[in-house]
Amino acid sequence: MILDGKTVSEKRLELLKEEIGESGLYPRLATVIVGNDPASQMYVRMKHRACERVGIGSIGIEIPSDTTTEKILESIAKLNRDTDINGILLQLPLPGQIDTDRVINAVKTEKDVDGFHPTNLGLLMSGKPLFSPCTPKGIMNLLADYRIPVAGARVVIAGRSIDVGRPMAALMTNADATITICHSRTRDLPAELRNADILISAVGKAHFITPEMVKPGAVVIDVGINQLNGKLVGDVDFDAVKEVASAITPVPGGVGPMTIATLMENTFFAATRMS
Ligand code: NAP
Repeated sequence: MILDGKTVSEKRLELLKEEIGESGLYPRLATVIVGNDPASQMYVRMKHRACERVGIGSIGIEIPSDTTTEKILESIAKLNRDTDINGILLQLPLPGQIDTDRVINAVKTEKDVDGFHPTNLGLLMSGKPLFSPCTPKGIMNLLADYRIPVAGARVVIAGRSIDVGRPMAALMTNADATITICHSRTRDLPAELRNADILISAVGKAHFITPEMVKPGAVVIDVGINQLNGKLVGDVDFDAVKEVASAITPVPGGVGPMTIATLMENTFFAATRMS
C-alpha cells in the first residue's frame, strides 16, 4: 500500500479551510527566511501557497544572509508583539554565524507553530503537547488516516534531530508505541531496523534504507529529501523496499505535504487560542 500523503493532506486542507471559514477568524502566519538558499525559498513559497489556499494570511520576512543574531532577534521580537500575527515560522537552517538556539528560543511559545521552542518540546516530552513539530505530527496524522495501529507497535526511528527524530519518538511514546532511536553511532543499524513494525527514516541519505533492513510486512515512512541524479528521492530505496513493506510513503508525495498541512493546522490552532 502506498501511503499517499498528497491526497491525505489535500483532504485535511479542505477540512481546515471549512473550519477556518466557519470560525470567523483570519489566522496569520509570518515566515522568516535568512539568506537565499533555493531549497529554503521553495519551502517558504509552498507554505505561503498553502496559507492562501485555506484562508490564512501570510507575510514573509526576508533577511540577507550576512545578518547578525541580534538583527534576527529584533525581527522576531516585532512579530512576537504584533497581535495580528498568530504563528511564526523560522525557516531553518540559519547561516553559520547565527546563534540558532537563541533565535528559536526567542519565538513566543504561543506563536511557535513549528514546535521547536524548548518549552514546546518539553511539553511534548511530558505528554502534554501544545504545538508539536509539523513533520512528526504530520506522520502521526498520516498513519491515523490509514488506520495503521501505533499502540504497542515497535517503532524504530533512524535520525535524532530536533525537528524530526526526537519529537517523533515523543509523539510515538505518547501514542503507546515502543521506541528505538538510531543515529550515526548505532552499533548494528540494520539489525535494529529489522525489528521495526514501523520504520521511520530521517537520515538525509539517498537510498540509505535497503530491503535487507526491513522486516517483511513493516510500515516504512520516508522523511528524507535528497537529490539523486537530478531527481528528488527519499532515504528509502523505494522500488526495492516496496516489495517487502506492507505500506510505504513515496518521495515526493508522502511526508512532505503532510508537514505543510500540519503547519496550517498548527497556525489555525494558534489563532483559536489567541482569539
Ligand atoms: P539532520 O539534522 O541532519 O539529522 C540526520 C540524522 O541522521 C542525525 O541524527 C544523524 O545521526 C543520523 N545519521 C546520519 N548518518 C547516519 C548513519 N549512517 N546511520 C544512522 N544514522 C545516521 O537531518 P533532519 O533535519 O532530521 O532531516 C533528515 C532528512 O529529512 C533530510 O533529508 C531532510 O531534508 C528531510 N526532512 C524532510 C522533511 C519533510 O517534511 N519531508 C522535514 C524535515 C526534514 P547523528 O545525530 O549521530 O549525527
